[in-house]
Amino acid sequence: MKAVLSYVLIVASVFCVGAQDLSQPIPVDQSIKKGVLPNGMTYYIKSTDVVKDAASYYIIQNVGSVLENEDQRGLAHFLEHMAFNGTEHFPGKGILNTLQKHGAVFGKDINAYTSFDETVYNLSDIPTKDGLVDTCLTVLQDWSNYLALTEDEIDAERGVIKEEWRTRQNGQMRLYEVSMPITYNHSKYADRMPIGLMSVVEGFKYKALRDFYHDWYRTDLQAIAVIGDVNVDEIEQKIIDKFSKIPAVDHPKERYVVNIPDNEDMLFSFGTDPEVSSASISFGIRHKKSLADETVGDLKKALLESMAISSISARIREKSQQPDAAFLSASVGYGGLSRTSKALSVGIYPKPNQQQDAFTEVLTEVIRAVKFGYTQSEIDRAITIFDNSYQNQIAKQDDRSHKSIENIIQSNYLSNSTMADVEKEYEIAKQLFSKITPEDVHNTIKRLYTKNNRFLNVIGVEGQDNLTEAQAREIIANVENSNTIEPYTEALDGKTLVSGLNIVPGTITSISKEDKVGSTTYVLSNGVKVHYKFVDKQKDRVALNAISYGGKSLLNDEDLASAGFVTSLLGMSGLGDFKATDLRKVLAGKTANVSVSLGDISENVSGNSNTKDVETMLQLVHVYFVKPRFDEDAYKVLQNNLDNYLLRRGKDIGEKMKDSLTYAIYGKNNPKKPIFDQEFINQVSFDKIKAVYADRFSDASDFEFFIVGDVKEEQLKPLLEKYIASLPTHHLNESYKDNSVEWVANTIDKDIYIAMEDPKASVNVVYKREMPYVKKNVVYTSVLGDMLQLRVTETVRESEGGAYSPRAGASFSREPKPAAYVNFSFDCNPDMADRLVEIVKNELQKIANGTINEEDLNKTRTNYLKENEQSKDNNGYDMAMLTRYFRYNENINDPKNFVDIVKNMKAKDIQKIAKEILKGGHSYEIIFKPEQ
Ligand SMILES: [Zn+2]
Repeated sequence: MKAVLSYVLIVASVFCVGAQDLSQPIPVDQSIKKGVLPNGMTYYIKSTDVVKDAASYYIIQNVGSVLENEDQRGLAHFLEHMAFNGTEHFPGKGILNTLQKHGAVFGKDINAYTSFDETVYNLSDIPTKDGLVDTCLTVLQDWSNYLALTEDEIDAERGVIKEEWRTRQNGQMRLYEVSMPITYNHSKYADRMPIGLMSVVEGFKYKALRDFYHDWYRTDLQAIAVIGDVNVDEIEQKIIDKFSKIPAVDHPKERYVVNIPDNEDMLFSFGTDPEVSSASISFGIRHKKSLADETVGDLKKALLESMAISSISARIREKSQQPDAAFLSASVGYGGLSRTSKALSVGIYPKPNQQQDAFTEVLTEVIRAVKFGYTQSEIDRAITIFDNSYQNQIAKQDDRSHKSIENIIQSNYLSNSTMADVEKEYEIAKQLFSKITPEDVHNTIKRLYTKNNRFLNVIGVEGQDNLTEAQAREIIANVENSNTIEPYTEALDGKTLVSGLNIVPGTITSISKEDKVGSTTYVLSNGVKVHYKFVDKQKDRVALNAISYGGKSLLNDEDLASAGFVTSLLGMSGLGDFKATDLRKVLAGKTANVSVSLGDISENVSGNSNTKDVETMLQLVHVYFVKPRFDEDAYKVLQNNLDNYLLRRGKDIGEKMKDSLTYAIYGKNNPKKPIFDQEFINQVSFDKIKAVYADRFSDASDFEFFIVGDVKEEQLKPLLEKYIASLPTHHLNESYKDNSVEWVANTIDKDIYIAMEDPKASVNVVYKREMPYVKKNVVYTSVLGDMLQLRVTETVRESEGGAYSPRAGASFSREPKPAAYVNFSFDCNPDMADRLVEIVKNELQKIANGTINEEDLNKTRTNYLKENEQSKDNNGYDMAMLTRYFRYNENINDPKNFVDIVKNMKAKDIQKIAKEILKGGHSYEIIFKPEQ
């Protein structure tokens, strides 16, 4: 009776969904509360305990640089900066100061961005205790309508933004600006880069900024979102009380939307830059994007578009892995371009002097799909991938980050997309999948590949045979009219990852528990040790780590260049019997990844999967040990990539600085610190890469395995016996060699001059002190670094306006040689470089002299305790705990190893470590300056 009943129910529900009309709306996620206040402000509240006792706060403003007039270019972004420089309730740096005292970090937990059409400010992962919920709501309220915009603060920020512009300015950026009028068809977007014009930033009148704020930053264009460990009704009441008081603006200006006009004929741009030495081609076709309510029909359309595009991507990837391809890499996508437009985009990185062929080859793949459509197996695979992705989303729903929930809210507010109920959407999608045919997908790509609204941007290289407009048009016409293009075919013979392998399972020979960290250790019959812990703080996630000492430290100098490409070549070669592209097909619909890497002192295998695909993850690990694949064709592709990388970095200022820095610190031609040049490439060889891998990864018993996550013992044990206990072992038990390289001198002080288009200075200051690895020293060093960061933000950025993002930090390296490091690095105005260097050095000296800001110490202390607490909500915390416990016999969860040190540290502890580091007498100070 029961069985019959459920059968009837299933049929009924299938009928229901199946009969669903395409004009039906997509079911909405009811757990996100949405409302609108009488003054027009929208609010969203979502309760989630993904981070315990913490919440994130956002203000999403439907305002961006596209609303600026010509004489206002840069004001939207300027206002974003002013949000952190004084508001009614938080004068001066009050917002930062208040929240830093509760452990938040500027630039990480407190941040903002400005784009063409929107501006979003956020306070993230703020504890919900100590009245902080109210504090954060007050910050949002001030952001909405009560920025102070004082003259002093405005003037102080002009320099910061000038430096932000300087640090972002490079060859690629200059070329991007050339392409904008074409991509956006000369609409207002074309000259509304949010950073704006420096002439405006330097000279605008105070009133201009205040007017812009009043005109656009208003309740009817603002939404606030509160996401976190909160009670929805309580927060809603607070929002109503607090935000209803904000007056709506009288006679508001119309929030117009900039539409990109259609173009019949393709638009074209071409550019070169003295600092760019590799070419790229971007071809696009614009489409209108609807802001209407989303329906089941829209979902179907989106699924079809995604299938059409991802299948072409896979074909192009396959092509790029052939050594004779004319391009290094290429991509195809379909995504948002502006508020009301999307674009089909094709991006190509040609090999040197092969721009015409590269464009032809990639375009051919697009046209092949337009002409002949797709195979049934491509569609089946795409559906399997979607299906798996829906299942993952549903399983991990309660673990969604605040940021990912905010993204959903933001698209709802700005673009009217549905905040979908994933489970219900999946039910509908399954019905849609069952009816999707290759023809549907074919029609989709035909619809997207239109004649009108095309644009093509070519970045050329001076002295090369660059793709001209006439050639591009001819190529498009030729490919579109070609009779030689044939339908896509593929041959996959249904083999699995482990087909053909003779796997002889082993056994688990001993099981022991370690209560201190809650783990179980299995010793397998081949000698491999596996430490395991069940953790489902994040559901449906499993991680694997395997570590073995040795790494590059045991290799000869002449093998080091090849050793650097073991990981790349493996990744490009595929695995076992499968080429890389076929491996992706075999793994379609599985959530399992494994990668291997070769470090300075260790070799590592790391992987992750969802619960159902743990077996696949362990199969991958098995095959990496017994049947790694090194493909000659893949090696040729790698060689091409290396040659091109050498060419590409040739004129790049950042790369020139990197090389000069290596020379200055380690001397020229230091075999342990090679720079990437022709000689380096010449040392790389296929056979050496293979030999290095065979040497480093031959003995599984030298690896210590860690598996942590949402996988039960019953599921794991037989899989370990099958795939890990069966691995060949030689019981080598290696260690590593200390190959640390000394600097050329104890103190290095150098100005290096480089010719550049937009002058900027770049500062690198480092102090080093070898000292024993003692837990307290490690914590104090790190605290010193964060306190220095607070200092240099205040002095170098805020007081001097000399750099946009001055970075200070300190770290303690454990192996091979324990040592503490302090470093400062930033781009800045060349005229101020020497002075700023003195300022940052002085900040360290001051701490060593005992001039310590207690408030900085307390902010850092609170931040460490908060981060430590919040990190415990992740499975990763337990992985770190097991690794450190078994590798170093150190329990990170034991208060004496961290929490007690942080709670009890005093100013004099930090002073002492700063003094020690300075006393070491090892430092370098290298400043890059523009050649006059
Ligand atoms: Zn900025």
